[in-house]
Order: sequence, then structure tokens, then C-alpha cells
Amino acid sequence: MNTCLVCGHQRAEGAVKCPQCGSFYSKIAELIAEQEALEEMQTFRGRYKKILNSGDIKQALLDELKSAKAELTPQGKFALFVIFVFVFALIVSVL
Ligand SMILES: [Zn+2]
Repeated sequence: MNTCLVCGHQRAEGAVKCPQCGSFYSKIAELIAEQEALEEMQTFRGRYKKILNSGDIKQALLDELKSAKAELTPQGKFALFVIFVFVFALIVSVL
């Protein structure tokens, strides 16, 4: 990335701060990455990605169940239900 994320001003090599608007490049990139990671975590797609990308799918599912239980919101309960369906589908496909 060689332009400022805030104002689009050309970014100088090795610069940490935009001369145009005064924004810190690394901080902005960090914040955006953090926000994207947070948003993805909150989506079911992100949850599945996390589970499927983990080396131990069984453990990841258990962790997911634990966190879904702890949430105890309608969304959490729904996630729990979806995960159970997912596990059930896995078992059925094996049998
Ligand atoms: Zn700028």
C-alpha cells in the first residue's frame, strides 16, 4: 500500500505519518485489520472459516460451542443450532 488510506496522498518510502492529513499509516492499517477480523469473527462464515482452518476441527467445534453457550443470545443459540446441524451432517455423511 503506497497511498494514505485516509486522504489518498502518495505515501513516501519509510514514512510513518501522512504529510497531507497527519494520519499514522501503520495505526490505520492495524485498526482496519482489527476491525475486519472482528467483523469476520461475528459472522457465521467467519466461524466456519475458523473451524475449518484450525488443525483440530473437533477442538475448534468444542471451543465454538463453549463460546456460543457463554453468549446465550438468540444469535448464540442459533449458532449453536447451526453447529449441531453441521456436526449431524458430518456424522450422517460418514455413516
Ligand atoms: Zn493522508
